[in-house]
Amino acid sequence: MERRVRVRFAPSPTGPLHMGGVRTALYNYLFARQHGGDFILRIEDTDSQRFVPGAEAYILESLKWCGITIDEGVNEGGPHAPYRQSERREIYLKYALDLVAAGQAYYAFDTPAELDALRAECEARGETFSYNHAVRETLATSLRLTPDEVQTRIDRGDQWVIRFRMPAGEEVHMHDLIRGDVTVNTATLDDKVLYKSADSLPTYHLANIVDDHLMEITHVIRGEEWLPSLPLHYLLYRAFGWSDTQPAFAHLPLLLKPTGKGKLSKRDGDKMGFPVFPLAWTSPEGETAHGYREDGYFAEAFVNMLALLGWNPGTEQEIFSMDQLIAQFSLERVGKSGARFNPEKARWFNAQYLRHKDNNELTALFLPILAGHGVTADPQTVARIVGLLKERATFVRDLWDLSWFFFRAPEEYDAKGVQKFWKGDNPARLTELRSLLAGLDDFTATALEPAVHDWVVTNGYSMGQVMNTFRLTMVGQSSGPAIFDICEIIGRDETLARIDRALAQLGQGA
Ligand code: GLU
Repeated sequence: MERRVRVRFAPSPTGPLHMGGVRTALYNYLFARQHGGDFILRIEDTDSQRFVPGAEAYILESLKWCGITIDEGVNEGGPHAPYRQSERREIYLKYALDLVAAGQAYYAFDTPAELDALRAECEARGETFSYNHAVRETLATSLRLTPDEVQTRIDRGDQWVIRFRMPAGEEVHMHDLIRGDVTVNTATLDDKVLYKSADSLPTYHLANIVDDHLMEITHVIRGEEWLPSLPLHYLLYRAFGWSDTQPAFAHLPLLLKPTGKGKLSKRDGDKMGFPVFPLAWTSPEGETAHGYREDGYFAEAFVNMLALLGWNPGTEQEIFSMDQLIAQFSLERVGKSGARFNPEKARWFNAQYLRHKDNNELTALFLPILAGHGVTADPQTVARIVGLLKERATFVRDLWDLSWFFFRAPEEYDAKGVQKFWKGDNPARLTELRSLLAGLDDFTATALEPAVHDWVVTNGYSMGQVMNTFRLTMVGQSSGPAIFDICEIIGRDETLARIDRALAQLGQGA
């Protein structure tokens, strides 16, 4: 029988979620939704030393912002609750002990000082110490000590760990949905710690495999950095006798720096001025990092951009809604090699989403920015202005620089523009234009344009000279949206007042 698809995103709350982590969550989510399955959020917080307060809340908030909805998780609950590993701690010991009983794992009593000494000894010989098949029987382990000795040590409160007994030289044949077949010989692998008595907690490897099994996970989709752990995970499933229901694995390619060389890191963002985190973050120590949300990106644009960092739809299409991504995503089309992050492209996506947004929606986002500039304006007028300018903006905040002259008269005039156009007959033409505008019945852009055009042509004036001079008086600079739209929106009185002001300030010209 086909099993119901169940995937999980299993972050460790060790800091803010990197955009690569968000991509992992997104691909899991798309896969779950496409297959009508479940998306589970599990918090892997068994490494108490790396725990960072606030990180879990940050992760949850990031997923919410992206529109990634969770079926089972720390807040949602579910049939396998709790979903925070620190609250499941009593589950894991039994499984570790089962492996010891089956001869697949063993107790190790080496103290940190003893291990340091072993490491130092190896280093002195120019070697690196590895806790593996070659040494385990010579160390303080249950493989060498008698059962009585082991029990005595445990009873007297010695600290111990349980380590996996990695086979000495076995070819492990694995399959990855993105990378195909992978074979690794265990000769080079060490005996990973599965459980620690010091804090009565499992390590990542044990908790992860036990939970994926108990939570009936069918597909593990995660970052490439976990690929080296795959042989151990395969062998753990086998040791538990769970190989039949073991999940399928897919390891996603790394996100690379904009240069294409090396992994995208937090510092790249600081250096090159782009966020690597979905939301702004302040660490408990007060360190801050930029976030896409606070930097003005739309969640949909961020998600769209991320979806294409590693997955290729096989067509020219670049703009995808979440529903389209759910319909079209496939692991087969995820690349094996790293995906180069392009901050320019991220901005491009935002501009695309901005221009397709409804004017009223943009107005609601722009009004507070206007208020910040001391402007209160009628939302309907703002919606019109936004409609005229949205194709030129990347972020909502850009709209102010593009539109301020709708809300206040220019106080200065661009020097180059003045030099170029405030000369000869132009100021006199402007006085004539003022009379024309003052006398027109209809002050809409559609009426203004032909009226002014006719006047220019009838008098044999230069359209370029007249219109550029006029624009300078209206906006103080040589660029901006169509001038008659500006006139209509600011109205006749303001239009005339701006002409008067320019004439007063710049004089009648030479
Ligand atoms: N807790 C691991 C992490 O932080 C999960 C890895 C996995 O998905 O197996 O990435």
